[in-house]
Amino acid sequence: MKINEIFYSIQGEGKLSGYPTIFIRLTGCNLRCRYCDTKYAYYDGIETSLNDIFSRIKSYPCRNVCITGGEPLLQKETPTLIKKLVDKKYRVFLETNGSIDLSDVVKIEPKKYVMISLDIKCPSSGMQDKMRFENINYLSEKDQLKFVISNREDYEYSKDVMDRFKPNCEIFMQPVWGWEAERLARWILEDGLNVRISLQLHKIVFGDKRGV
Ligand code: SF4
Repeated sequence: MKINEIFYSIQGEGKLSGYPTIFIRLTGCNLRCRYCDTKYAYYDGIETSLNDIFSRIKSYPCRNVCITGGEPLLQKETPTLIKKLVDKKYRVFLETNGSIDLSDVVKIEPKKYVMISLDIKCPSSGMQDKMRFENINYLSEKDQLKFVISNREDYEYSKDVMDRFKPNCEIFMQPVWGWEAERLARWILEDGLNVRISLQLHKIVFGDKRGV
């Protein structure tokens, strides 16, 4: 597999925010979101065997693994990596960008060890037309749906997606880094939305830099 980086840090997003986590960042992405903060993962990486990946991660005192990118499901070995991780009793958190079919990933057993974080890209990303909304139907209570918000149009778009597809999981709204979280919080409070704000805790703790 082509791996951009492996590192150990604090999960900064979503329902596992704050937990120590091993991150495996895979190379390559099929989207080009305007606000992307991981452009370095588009091409840079080293071919790494599954054995080498396991050698690297076993040095960390942690059983949470986040597979991220780029878009990790572009690489055909990713489902095998997930299966081997759960067989070794790691809890896997898969971050995926909403454009790739999830039907194979959701079959991996035991399901309770695989948590999917599905992005739905809003208009400000420029990538909203690439979404496969049918993926929302694969999510269950253990999973999460995430909208990155950078203006009112994104917020209204997110509400419309929630109304249309009624996701069966926790929903996170995350202000794009540098945008006003307070404004988003006030909109959510005014509308009484049953969603959670995600603030990229790792950037608050360590700063906006690579490898944390
Ligand atoms: S899906 Fe993620 S990695 Fe790909 S362009 Fe968008 S923000 Fe960047």
